[in-house]
Amino acid sequence: MLRDLEQPGPVEVETVVGAEWAVDRSKILNLAHPKSKEAGLVEGDEPIQVYFHVVRHPTRGTFLIDTGAEKALGNDRDHAAFRGFIANYMHMERMKLVHPLGDWLKDNDTRLAGVFFTHLHLDHVTGLPDVPKTTPLYAGPSEANHQALLNAFSRQGLDRSFDGRPPLNEWAFRADPDQRFDGVIDVFGDGTFFAIFVPGHTGGSTAYLARTTKGPVLFTGDTASTTWGWDHQVEPGSFTDDHAKDSEALARLHKLVEEHPAIDVRLGHQALRR
Ligand SMILES: [Zn+2]
Repeated sequence: MLRDLEQPGPVEVETVVGAEWAVDRSKILNLAHPKSKEAGLVEGDEPIQVYFHVVRHPTRGTFLIDTGAEKALGNDRDHAAFRGFIANYMHMERMKLVHPLGDWLKDNDTRLAGVFFTHLHLDHVTGLPDVPKTTPLYAGPSEANHQALLNAFSRQGLDRSFDGRPPLNEWAFRADPDQRFDGVIDVFGDGTFFAIFVPGHTGGSTAYLARTTKGPVLFTGDTASTTWGWDHQVEPGSFTDDHAKDSEALARLHKLVEEHPAIDVRLGHQALRR
């Protein structure tokens, strides 16, 4: 992955804000971390964005990383995949749609060749109902069986979202030849787009790196959700399964970017100020 990292590649990417939302800061930033305490961070509403990223490869087609938010969350909430208890519990009524996935795909006349998930927490799956049913789906190992408390609560919504679709393809990670990460896959086999195994936030969490016409772009997923968390290397909060592993994965991604400052970083839920 590192060899031609800074050589421009043929891929084009676009980050789209599906929805503006707000969640408890303690969910998305570990407030118990010494650095958070030192900075005096306390519980409160943290404004976040729910993204999908469009990845265009010249011969392989157009893919998404994560899915933003489905159209029905804007105008037909009673029929959205995530409704009822989980929607109330997650305060999804506070989700303000910006570019619902269904509208975006239609407006841009886009046919999808696949969806690459960073992980399967609900806020990364909320746009899936707008993805055509036959579209291939990809995620990290065991991500589908992953039974975090949040996933147990959101199981019904996840089942509705995945119902009638082809089985999830799991990334069969191989050892990272650069020995930096727990595993790496050259997704298209041409050195232009990589899946990077970063377990911690969830057991199958996956980051992606694209060699675009404008240089390398890294999609961290929720290994790093917030701007402050990235800048201070503090992992997300109670949504995180394994804090030690997430911290380690975040440190490795951060080091990669320190050594290759040309990398444009797209975080899980907030924009990185440069
Ligand atoms: Zn998230």
